[in-house]
Amino acid sequence: MDYQNVDSTAPPLASATAIPVGKVTTEGHSSSPGGIEFGRQPMFIGTCPHCQHSGVTTRIKTYPVFETWLACGLLLLVFWPVCWVPLVTDTCKKTEHVCTQCEEMIGDVSPLSDCCVKRMG
Ligand SMILES: [Zn+2]
Repeated sequence: MDYQNVDSTAPPLASATAIPVGKVTTEGHSSSPGGIEFGRQPMFIGTCPHCQHSGVTTRIKTYPVFETWLACGLLLLVFWPVCWVPLVTDTCKKTEHVCTQCEEMIGDVSPLSDCCVKRMG
C-alpha cells in the first residue's frame, strides 16, 4: 500500500500589498514672490524688486476685504454680539506690503492665512 506523502511546502508570504503613505502637502499659502513670508508687521527686505532700492522697510496697509465681511456675516448668524470682531482682527483682513520708495506692492497676506499657524517669534 503506497502512501504518497505530499510535500506541502508553505508558500512564501509575499506581502505585496504596500499601502502608499504619501502625505499630500499642497497647501495654498499666500503668494509671496521670492519666497518671502510676509507677516502683519512692516518688514525689512534687502532690495525692492521694483525700484531696486536697497534696504527697504515695507509699509503695510491692512484693510477689510470680502472675507472679512463674510466672517462678519457668519458671526452675525451664529452669535451676533461679536459680529464686529473680524473688523478689528488683522487675521481676517488683507495686509499689503508696499515699498516706501516707489509705493509698489511687494507682497500681501491673505485673510485667514495666519490664523492656524503659530506666529514666529
Ligand atoms: Zn520700491
